[in-house]
Amino acid sequence: MTNIYSLAVEGVQKLIPYKAGKPIEELERELGISNIVKLASNENPLGIGEKARAAIQNAMENLALYPDGSGFHLKNTLAKKYAVSMEQITLGNGSNEILELVARAFLTTENEVIFSQHAFAVYPIVTQAVGAKAVVTPALNYGHDLIQMLDRVTAKTRIVFIANPNNPTGTLLKQEAIEHFINLLPEHVICVLDEAYFEFVSQIETVDSVSWLKKFPNLIITRTFSKAYGLAGLRVGYSLSNVEIADLLNRVRQPFNNNSLALAAAEAALNDEEHVRITVENNTFGMKQLTDSFKALNLTWIPSAGNFVSVDLKQAGLPIYEKLLRKGVIVRPVDVYEMPNFLRISIGTPTENAKFLKALKEVLTNV
Ligand SMILES: *Cc1c(COP(=O)(O)O)cnc(C)c1O
Repeated sequence: MTNIYSLAVEGVQKLIPYKAGKPIEELERELGISNIVKLASNENPLGIGEKARAAIQNAMENLALYPDGSGFHLKNTLAKKYAVSMEQITLGNGSNEILELVARAFLTTENEVIFSQHAFAVYPIVTQAVGAKAVVTPALNYGHDLIQMLDRVTAKTRIVFIANPNNPTGTLLKQEAIEHFINLLPEHVICVLDEAYFEFVSQIETVDSVSWLKKFPNLIITRTFSKAYGLAGLRVGYSLSNVEIADLLNRVRQPFNNNSLALAAAEAALNDEEHVRITVENNTFGMKQLTDSFKALNLTWIPSAGNFVSVDLKQAGLPIYEKLLRKGVIVRPVDVYEMPNFLRISIGTPTENAKFLKALKEVLTNV
């Protein structure tokens, strides 16, 4: 009998699927407990904003119709906000879809893709799926080593993925360092600058990568509505690039990849600066709440520019993760990122953070 697996393309045969954070409902079923706190997927603990909620209510009226396949209104709002043309924007079903579109548009089995050790898990997946070769550079203090990455560029290299800040480490590169890096990158290499946590960073320093689009025809900036905007469940992300790259990405994009509720909510969310402001404020507070307690517990952590922090437990993280689950707290093991002694904690509300910290203290002292 034919082994069906042998019929799949080689890259897919060897693919190890992405493991998402455990959903609350699943843990509730397993353990029969309620009031579970999930700090595992870097979602917005304050939830969706009022403007986005109202836009969704409104858009419900027209759900029998296909969405606007061009995403006109959302693109128009994005174009105004970031001073780019609508033709430079590609909308994705989450920015993960954009990463996949880039791989499909630019990679063959002959190509190489460079990314860092501990980098976001979707880069190896999209690379592997199209059968291209992953070139992983060793991390530098848990962050990207741009010099090493440049060093690995060959004639076969077609994409370099840079996550800034990176997930799960939270490490942030200096803007000047990235600009210098792209400047030195040959033009046959596409630089994907993944700014999923842009809204958290933009409060710390002036982030101006969009202005580089004028001088770097090989730059793609990806951003998302899943993190600071609190719309992870709707799946909306986008990229900003030059017009030619956007044209190529839009050729492989499905015509209705964003649903009507998502398009309406994302557009409204962009105009809700207050919701982003209180989200970032909550994040700054929570980050201090967590790291102050880590310090008191004699634990170290990787300083993070995102809405999460990876803490070094100095012992295997998985058993601690399991014990935290039994106390009703879901965090994220990062052993698959070659960080077996760490757990990644998403910043929650002050109450959620306190519940996690209490559970962690109990677990570490065997209470
Ligand atoms: C969360 C995340 C994304 C994308 O999430 P989407 O929900 O698909 O937009 C992309 N890159 C990094 C580094 C992330 O952490």
